[in-house]
Amino acid sequence: MNNRLYGNLIFELSKEGRKGYSLPKNHFGSYEIPAEMKRAEEAQLPECDELTVVRHYTNLSNNNFGVDTGFYPLGSCTMKYNPKINEEMAALPQFQNLHPEQPVETVRGAQALVTLLEKSLCALTGLAHFTFKPYAGAHGELTGLMTIDNYHRSRGDMARKKVIVPDSAHGTNPASAAVCGLEIVEVKSLANGQVDFEDLQRLVAEQGTEIAAMMMTNPNTLGLFETRIPEIAQLIHDCGGLMYYDGANLNPMLGACRPGDMGFDVMHINLHKTFSTPHGGGGPGAGPVGVREGLQDCFPFVSPYQGNYGVMMRAYAYILSLGREHVKEVGPLATLNANYIKESLKDVYELPINTICCHEFVFDGLKDKSTGVTTMDVAKRLLDYGYHAPTIYFPLLFHESLMIEPTENESKETLDGFIAVMRQIAEEAKTDPELVKGAPHDTPIGRVDDVLAAKHPVTTYRQLQAENV
Ligand SMILES: *Cc1c(COP(=O)(O)O)cnc(C)c1O
Repeated sequence: MNNRLYGNLIFELSKEGRKGYSLPKNHFGSYEIPAEMKRAEEAQLPECDELTVVRHYTNLSNNNFGVDTGFYPLGSCTMKYNPKINEEMAALPQFQNLHPEQPVETVRGAQALVTLLEKSLCALTGLAHFTFKPYAGAHGELTGLMTIDNYHRSRGDMARKKVIVPDSAHGTNPASAAVCGLEIVEVKSLANGQVDFEDLQRLVAEQGTEIAAMMMTNPNTLGLFETRIPEIAQLIHDCGGLMYYDGANLNPMLGACRPGDMGFDVMHINLHKTFSTPHGGGGPGAGPVGVREGLQDCFPFVSPYQGNYGVMMRAYAYILSLGREHVKEVGPLATLNANYIKESLKDVYELPINTICCHEFVFDGLKDKSTGVTTMDVAKRLLDYGYHAPTIYFPLLFHESLMIEPTENESKETLDGFIAVMRQIAEEAKTDPELVKGAPHDTPIGRVDDVLAAKHPVTTYRQLQAENV
C-alpha cells in the first residue's frame, strides 16, 4: 500500500490551527449570531493547508476506475459507449437549469425534445407510446408490470396475477414482479441457453388463465438471441397474457429488429446503458416504458415529474448523432467485438454454450479447474493489470460465470490487450496459482470481505476510531 497516496484520511492529515484559505477583507461589519442558534461545541473539522486538501482529494479521485481511465468489460449492466458530445449537450445551461415546477409555457423546447425522443424510440422499438417517468430499469419494469396489471383489471380479469420469468433473467425481473404484487413462475432454460419451450407450454396449459405476462430479455442474459419468440408470443397471447420485453441492453437490436414486431406489448429501455449516460453507484438513470397502441391508457402514476432529463438529452443526442443509417452499426460492431474476445479465449476459459453470441457472452471460469483458481480470483487479478472486472457469478446458470461485454467502440488494440492479459492470468493460474488467489496486489486496498463491507459498513471517522479498524 502506498501510504503517501492512499493511506490517510483528511482527519489524520489535520494539524490544529492550519488554514487552507484566506478570506478577503470584510467591508460589511459583523453580526452576532444569537447564542441559542450556536453549537454547544466547536464543529470537529479537519484543519489543513490548501495543497494538502487539493492533493488529498485529487489522489482519492485517481483511485476511481471509469470508462475514461480504462477498459470496462462489465457484462449486462455495462457502461456502453458514452460519446463526450452527449455530455456537452446535457450540460447546455438552457436545459440543465430547468426547474420541474417551471410554468409550462417556459419549457416548450424541453417538452419538444421529449416528444422527439419518444418518436425515435417508437421507431426503434415498433411500439406506439412511451412514458419517461421511470428513473431506472427496475423502475421501468415495475411501471410496465403495473401497466399490464391495470390492463387486466380494466377488462375485469382479476385472476391474472402470475408472471412467467426465465431462470436466466436479470434479478430485477422477479423482484419487480414481486413488488407489483404478482407471483413469479419460473420457466427453465435449455442447455443451449434459450427458454425451454416445452416447459413453457406445460406452464401455460396448467396456469394459462392466471398468467398476466411473460417477461423476456433478448438477447437474453447469456448474450444469446432467443429464436422462438414468435411462437412464445403466440402461446402467451392465446392464453390472454401480455409479452414484456426487458430492453435494458438494447444495443445489439438497434436498427436490426424491433420488439414490437416480435410480439412484445410492453417494454422498458435503460437509456443509461444503451443510450449513453455514464452511470454507476445508483445513478443517474432513466427507464422509459413503451407500449402498444391502447395500453398507454393503463400507465400508472409513478412520478409527478418527467424522469431524469439529462439522461434523456444524452439519449437523444446519441440517436441524432448516429442517425437512421449508423444506428444499425452499433449492434454488429458490439457483436463482432464480443465474438472476437470469446473466440480468442475459449481454449483457456470454459465456454459452456459454444455458439455465436450477441453483445456479450459468459464463460464458466477457467478451463483448467485443477488449479483451484476461481472466477473471483481472475476478476481480482484483472485489477492488477488495470482492467475493470467483468460481471462475475451472474447469470446463476453456471457456478463460475464470467460475463464479458466489450461494447461497440473499443479498438482492436484494446481488445487484443485485454485478451493478452486474460491469457496471461490463465497461464499464471497454472504456474503460480497463489499469485492469482492473492490478487489484487497493486490496488489501494487488497481483497475486501464483500459481505462484511456490505453488512457492516464503517462510514465515519469516529466509528473507525471506536472500532480501531
Ligand atoms: C441493468 C438491467 C436491469 C435493471 O436496470 P437498473 O437501471 O439497474 O434498475 C434490468 N434488466 C437487465 C437485463 C439489465 O441489464
